[in-house]
Amino acid sequence: MLFIYKESLNALTIIPSPAGSKSCSGRSGNSGAQVTKLQQNLNAIKAQNTVPNMTTISVNGVFGTSTVDNLKKVQSYYGLTADGVYGTSSRNLFMDLIGSSSEGYIRFPFGGGVGFKNRNDESYESVDYSWLTVDAMNTAMSFAVYASGVLHKDLLFNDGSYINGGDNTDHDTHTDGRDLDISTSNLTTDAELKTALEYIIAQSNVERVLFKETYVLPKVVKDAGHYDHFHVDFYK
Ligand SMILES: [Zn+2]
Repeated sequence: MLFIYKESLNALTIIPSPAGSKSCSGRSGNSGAQVTKLQQNLNAIKAQNTVPNMTTISVNGVFGTSTVDNLKKVQSYYGLTADGVYGTSSRNLFMDLIGSSSEGYIRFPFGGGVGFKNRNDESYESVDYSWLTVDAMNTAMSFAVYASGVLHKDLLFNDGSYINGGDNTDHDTHTDGRDLDISTSNLTTDAELKTALEYIIAQSNVERVLFKETYVLPKVVKDAGHYDHFHVDFYK
């Protein structure tokens, strides 16, 4: 599972937005490297075999009829306005489908994986997307595998950050892909909480964990506001 994330990050980059902006736009008649990337991503989505009736695009960097038609099919299938214009909503959708951001962050899979669930999947338009650096994500996945194997519990992961980082009103420190919230609702006993904390702080790339209790453990910082989740900070 860890391997797949790294592969998807290297193989597929999303069309970048203009510097400093989270918006983007591409339409019929545009050409260039960003259109090439869009065509590669459309072919990658076709290869997922989820959206019906897509065709393979010959990747030529020109936003022509087959690019428009295939983009419309993806937009339509996932409930966006099927206008064949690649704007912010389409980009966010592509990031969700392909799983990497232009900042190099990667997203928790829809639903979850071995030993964890992504809490933000109830709604497609949920305000955060749980993007982490590859390093942080791999460690998070190892927490989940450990929790599943040792505690026999699924972890609930939450809002690493917005796509590409950025303020989230409730979690405005979650901007760099290196913050992870782990709900403690599935860890019902004091022993389970402590066991999970001991595993987390043993990871070399974990700088500290905020939680209401300290358990007199290194790296664990007592913070009354974190009463229902571990907030894990990874080293920058
Ligand atoms: Zn947090």
